[in-house]
Amino acid sequence: MKPQHTVVVGGGLIGLCTALALRRAGHPVTLVDRGRLGGGAATGNAGELTPQQVSPLASPNTAVDVFRGVFTQSSYLSIDPWQLPRLARFGLGFIRSAGRTRAARGAAALAQFADELLPAMRRLGAEGIDLSGGGEGYLMTNSDPEQLRAAHAAYGARADRGWGEAPGPILRDGQLAEAEPALHPSVTGGFMLPGEFSLDPVTFVASLIERVRDSGVTVREGLTALRVGEGASIVCSREDGTEETVRGDRLVIAAGAWTTPILRRSRIRSAPVVSGKGYSFTVPVARMPETLIHAMDRHCVAIPMHGRLRIVGMMEFDGHPERPNPRRFEVLTRAAAGVIRDADWANRTEEWVGARPMTADGMPLLGPVAGRPEVIVAAGHNMHGLSLAPITAEVVADLVAGRDPVIGGRTLDLAPFAVRR
Ligand SMILES: Cc1cc2nc3c(=O)[nH]c(=O)nc-3n(C[C@H](O)[C@H](O)[C@H](O)COP(=O)(O)OP(=O)(O)OC[C@H]3O[C@@H](n4cnc5c(N)ncnc54)[C@H](O)[C@@H]3O)c2cc1C
Repeated sequence: MKPQHTVVVGGGLIGLCTALALRRAGHPVTLVDRGRLGGGAATGNAGELTPQQVSPLASPNTAVDVFRGVFTQSSYLSIDPWQLPRLARFGLGFIRSAGRTRAARGAAALAQFADELLPAMRRLGAEGIDLSGGGEGYLMTNSDPEQLRAAHAAYGARADRGWGEAPGPILRDGQLAEAEPALHPSVTGGFMLPGEFSLDPVTFVASLIERVRDSGVTVREGLTALRVGEGASIVCSREDGTEETVRGDRLVIAAGAWTTPILRRSRIRSAPVVSGKGYSFTVPVARMPETLIHAMDRHCVAIPMHGRLRIVGMMEFDGHPERPNPRRFEVLTRAAAGVIRDADWANRTEEWVGARPMTADGMPLLGPVAGRPEVIVAAGHNMHGLSLAPITAEVVADLVAGRDPVIGGRTLDLAPFAVRR
């Protein structure tokens, strides 16, 4: 097939990896971002690549959290009640997707990526992209024995289906403290998930940007996509307020949590992508944990990254994707203080907020727009945009080339990811 000049909208995790995959396949690429490349949620996240945990947020467990999130300030999930009318379609879809059958269907759809997401990331590593800063294996903790057993069984069941590696044995009290001396003494149970991986997204994104620039991608920063134009074109506004149309043979919309307004202005009907804000900061510690610690009961993650400890968590729906809420940093700090011992919580640095591109059913929007095969959407990767970016990029490259995407030897069933559903 002759090279297809592809315009990619959004230079975040999905857009950067997509631009590289397209260049690798020989297509000319123009990458448009309203700000600088690597903005959005690309760098402050937890750096987790999780073949075992790539599943929708909506589940029978989280349905209860939604109600708590509207009425309390202390929960990891918070929803501004004033936003409820605006979030109605998303919220109803979320509650519907939280039923056992739909949640299982969603997990199976995403599991199509499970075995190939790490190999796809390693392919980037083999090309010289920096995957350093983290390591292999997560310690999953939960001090409620029943919840711990249930989580262990659930990961075991996924592994039995061939989705990721089996968890290690359950460790309790002294055994756990010996395995991870940095844990707070109140943490009484945990197990290892050996097949998971983490990296430092700051160095990862910096090396992606460098490679994108070196590989001949035309980068257009400071250009805000407004709406899809004729064919594969995008009408943008420049920083001085004037409009410019960027044209190609294919158009990929990868604007993360900001995707829905572009589609709406273009009269393209789609499942909504809304911002689920997350927070992170760095904290000085007396002792660095051996591995990433994922505290399931406290809904936060502590990640050793290039010699610093990053704390990540919270899911906030308040309609302001870029506005930090100081109270949320306090809630996150209180949660993490029960996980990590001997940290200097008063001296947090690198405080960051980012917008997860959330869909009600947890599925990304991935595929062409109905009736417009030249316009492809790759957005709405929820909490898994880093895990899924390299494999998403390979899928988009297949779509641009007019091929059915194949993952691990199997044709990808794109139906669950349809833009309009
Ligand atoms: C606290 C937190 C922790 C996370 N931890 C993990 C993790 O451990 N593992 C994981 O897999 N995922 C994680 N995620 C999720 C992950 O960061 C996102 O899924 C991912 O960033 C989505 O990638 P994206 O390219 O779609 O969006 P983004 O990375 O947000 O990029 C969107 C880009 O589009 C640009 N843009 C927006 N609007 C326009 C416009 N109109 N015109 C032009 N450009 C535009 C933005 O400037 C930005 O550069 C986390 C997210 C958060 C917030």
